[in-house]
Amino acid sequence: MSRDTQRQKVYDWENSQSWMIKKSYLTQGECHAVIKRLNKIYRKKVKLRFKNGHGSCWAFNQNDILIRNDWGRSYGVLLHEFAHCLSNDSHNGTFVSNYCLLLHYLHPEQPSIKDLVKSLNNANVDFIDFEKTLSRKILSKRLKPFTQVCTEPLPVPVKNVKTRVSAKQRVQKILDSWLHTNQPMTANYYDVAVYEYSGSKFVNVNGMEHSDVLDSWLEVEVCLLEAIEQRLHEHEDYK
Ligand SMILES: [Zn+2]
Repeated sequence: MSRDTQRQKVYDWENSQSWMIKKSYLTQGECHAVIKRLNKIYRKKVKLRFKNGHGSCWAFNQNDILIRNDWGRSYGVLLHEFAHCLSNDSHNGTFVSNYCLLLHYLHPEQPSIKDLVKSLNNANVDFIDFEKTLSRKILSKRLKPFTQVCTEPLPVPVKNVKTRVSAKQRVQKILDSWLHTNQPMTANYYDVAVYEYSGSKFVNVNGMEHSDVLDSWLEVEVCLLEAIEQRLHEHEDYK
């Protein structure tokens, strides 16, 4: 493998082009469809994986592509990584020319060969004769480019942090809100208590046992809520 001497030049060049958007506007499913189609066209078996975080996107061993969910799910990035699977010269000439042909034939914007060559020369990026690439043999105007889609970045799913609250904690919360109220009348009225005896649990309302033996905190919770609701109805009658 040759030294990766013009990597930064390639990044700078592609970042200045309208067809390159380093934001995730494709779904994972759409990305899989892109790679599946490219595999079919090139008779390859490139695998696609996703990773969270802001790090790099990668192509390994011309066979594996890793795309960052945070910014890499775009046609430009997918074609860049797939071009690595068609060459093993890092970001050098063979890679650049295969990449350009992928862009020309398959990117929805279909940049012209003339514009690509011009922008490469302006950015001082080396490339090999397009005629000598694998892509020149395989790609043609008969292939339709990928579908134009909205390039607004897709919302990043918010991590669902579940704070697990146990039934016991919920019971305690109910007791707190009904017992430690600063309204003495209400506090008296809703004198609810839970106690455990010999491994079983009981709910007690206003000094009276409200339930039979309860086996779990979930049962206590249900019973407690029932008792409070009943009391609320009774309370309404006094209004
Ligand atoms: Zn690259």
